[in-house]
Amino acid sequence: MPAVRDAGIVVIGSGMAGLTTALRLSPRPVTLLTKTPDLPGGSSPYAQGGVAAAIGPDDDPGDHAADTVAAGAGITDALMARLLAAEGADQIRRLLASGSAFDRDADGTPMLGREAAHGRARIVHAGGDATGRILTHEFADLVRRTGSITVMTQAFAVDLIVRDGRVHGVLACHAEDGWIFHRASHVVLATGGVGSVFLHTTNPAENTGDGLAMAARAGAALGDLEFVQFHPTALAVDDGSGKPLPLLTEALRGAGAVMLDGQGRRFMPAEHPDAELAPRDVVARAVWRRVAAGERVTLDMRAALAEDAGHFPTVLDLCAQAGIDPTREPVPIAPAAHYHMGGVVTDADGHTSIDGLWACGEVANTGVHGANRLASNSLLEALVFGDRVARAIAVAGAGSKRPPIAIPAIPSVPGNSGEAIAALRGSVRRAMYDHVGLSRDAPGLDRALKLLAGLEAERTGLKAQGSASFHDTVAWGELRNLLLSAVLITRAASQREESRGAHYRSDFPAALPAWQHRRFISLRDFDALRVPQQPVKEARHAVPAGL
Ligand SMILES: Cc1cc2nc3c(=O)[nH]c(=O)nc-3n(C[C@H](O)[C@H](O)[C@H](O)COP(=O)(O)OP(=O)(O)OC[C@H]3O[C@@H](n4cnc5c(N)ncnc54)[C@H](O)[C@@H]3O)c2cc1C
Repeated sequence: MPAVRDAGIVVIGSGMAGLTTALRLSPRPVTLLTKTPDLPGGSSPYAQGGVAAAIGPDDDPGDHAADTVAAGAGITDALMARLLAAEGADQIRRLLASGSAFDRDADGTPMLGREAAHGRARIVHAGGDATGRILTHEFADLVRRTGSITVMTQAFAVDLIVRDGRVHGVLACHAEDGWIFHRASHVVLATGGVGSVFLHTTNPAENTGDGLAMAARAGAALGDLEFVQFHPTALAVDDGSGKPLPLLTEALRGAGAVMLDGQGRRFMPAEHPDAELAPRDVVARAVWRRVAAGERVTLDMRAALAEDAGHFPTVLDLCAQAGIDPTREPVPIAPAAHYHMGGVVTDADGHTSIDGLWACGEVANTGVHGANRLASNSLLEALVFGDRVARAIAVAGAGSKRPPIAIPAIPSVPGNSGEAIAALRGSVRRAMYDHVGLSRDAPGLDRALKLLAGLEAERTGLKAQGSASFHDTVAWGELRNLLLSAVLITRAASQREESRGAHYRSDFPAALPAWQHRRFISLRDFDALRVPQQPVKEARHAVPAGL
């Protein structure tokens, strides 16, 4: 039996979304759970480019919303985009007024960068390209100093406890205190994205789709799962260790960096009128096609760095760590899984289809990103929807009690299975990158589903070898979530027989009017792990050499 703790409101996740929600809920008592050893966590500290906000003198939230809708390839919820742009500008003004360390010029005016598919320079940034690190550390310090927030680190949320369509709390495994059932009438998922589902990703290893999988198991509605954005310019220096590929921020291309093919020629002007500043999916596929054909694609940022090296300290540092000097030579690049537009479906207040369950940040699917997220809109999304969730919980009544339910049982976790679990995790990630990445087709997707079903059978067949430590439980739980997220994404990708935004089907290369809508599913709609019946041909996509 787990210990039982009355928590009231639980926020899961210590990235920008979780930290924002917890702070905005103050002075209401909140328990903040995060599986990382300290605050902050997740992708948020890695964000380089900045936060998009229509605060410039020549800018308008309507224009920002229009750019957001245009990037979303026909299925963005326009009302959500207007809300994001308008409230986002307010949130950023509020942070500027409170002294947040955004880069400013000599008279204190915030400096604004330009990024792909934005019609204006509207990206506020901090420490040049260290925006995520600086903002999340500011927020984390505030959280630590807020008495109403109980922070529990190395706390791995394993399952949502839901009875009769209402949330009753979270079952979590803690490094120090073992298993705890946190009884709560409100649970906020702020668990980030699914990058680690793919072999190559810019996300940290902890982004394993936990929130998506927990919500799926609890029966929540999920949306737009097929839309996974690949960043076109990750530094192609994979050492096979499973570490995230370092990201070369889009702001470099905004500052004039260009992409070169194997012969050292620029190729983007022939691909799109906006060349290197075309929407991300267009740029990523153009890079992918060349990398998959065995070309060494590079990013030439020499001119951009000569102009303003001080703006890109993180990039310089990442290249130096890889033994590359980007001021002297173009650097090798490859696309890597970066952001999930799909997730747990919410309304404008972050409320999911389950009473008392909320979601914000990357794990949520508000419809604001459509089929393709506009650059630098996701930290903004975390700020805006984290705030909205907190306000909605305040209105709903933070203290409303649930009727007592039976204490949930502790799942059986195989101990000492580290190596087997790591091997299965690697196989999931490779299958997803090979068959469900930048270019998909029916045979490849069927092949992926078969492979995933086999891996799930191996996972459930793992035999207990002694008692499980906290680390065993995290490894086991992450693999369970990774596999379920992978299957859900693959199923959704199989069902959308067209190409749109970040979802490209080589067997259905056009966008079709009949498919110009979002898609919602829940785990109950199908047996997620059923092996597909169609004959499976050998998949055509392989991991490109040199990655
Ligand atoms: C390299 C990189 C650069 C980026 N640059 C930008 C940028 O310039 N601008 C921009 O807007 N966006 C950028 N993004 C995207 C953006 O950073 C993310 O979309 C955003 O930060 C997500 O915030 P989040 O709070 O929703 O999730 P995250 O920041 O990913 O946080 C998730 C948290 O949930 C916790 N968690 C997950 N599962 C569990 C569990 N089971 N139990 C307990 N805790 C759990 C994790 O430990 C973590 O603390 C970038 C992303 C990357 C990877």
